[in-house]
Amino acid sequence: MLEIHNLTKNYNQGADVVEVLKGLELVVQEGEHVAILGPSGSGKSTFLSLISGLDRPTEGRIQLAGINFTNLNQKALTQFRARHIGIVFQQFHLLSNLTALENVKLPLLIAGVSDQEKKSEKLLERVGLGHRMHHFPNQMSGGENQRVAIARALIHEPSLLLADEPSGNLDNEIGKRVMDLLFEVVKEKKSTLLLVTHNEELAKRCQRRVYLKNGRLDS
Ligand code: ADP
Ligand code: MG
Repeated sequence: MLEIHNLTKNYNQGADVVEVLKGLELVVQEGEHVAILGPSGSGKSTFLSLISGLDRPTEGRIQLAGINFTNLNQKALTQFRARHIGIVFQQFHLLSNLTALENVKLPLLIAGVSDQEKKSEKLLERVGLGHRMHHFPNQMSGGENQRVAIARALIHEPSLLLADEPSGNLDNEIGKRVMDLLFEVVKEKKSTLLLVTHNEELAKRCQRRVYLKNGRLDS
């Protein structure tokens, strides 16, 4: 379903070249849940940003649903992402001038599907935010914003969900409930999940764990 071959990412830092990912190989089956662990700065977020198509690899190939999307142009890539991929960012990246409901609705708007309003309301209720639909991100707590981010990532039922430390900003009780919900929806939609986390409990809920260290993946 997801095939990653020789994935390499270098950053130029002045005259220096920082080699973050050094030829990663990974094959993930459809519907599989994979936890990505690794020390801070090991390149976990970089890895997800490449798989999401938000950043381009220096070298290598990422194939999703039979399409090598590293070759797509920007417009095609944006459309591909809108159809197939959901992302929960470490820092939420909600749009500050849109309400919770509008943020969640956005992927449906881009994908041009029907019943945008109703679907978005339903999912927001499901993450316990029925009473916050018309609030803006700066009128909500960190945990509430995180739940909006999760709802936005799942609203278009992506075949691939990428989540970067999604429990990082949640207190234990709410965090656990939201993660339960994330796994519940992911299973229901048979989405493939790549979950970056430093939380062993959370990692154990995935069928497979891989470790990123010194630019390489270990299982
Ligand atoms: P992690 O998510 O595992 O903590 P990151 O992927 O955020 O790690 O970062 C991996 C390494 O790449 C770090 O050393 C970081 O400083 C470097 N890095 C990330 N983004 C950039 C960038 N845009 N330019 C230069 N270096 C970067
Ligand atoms: Mg990170």
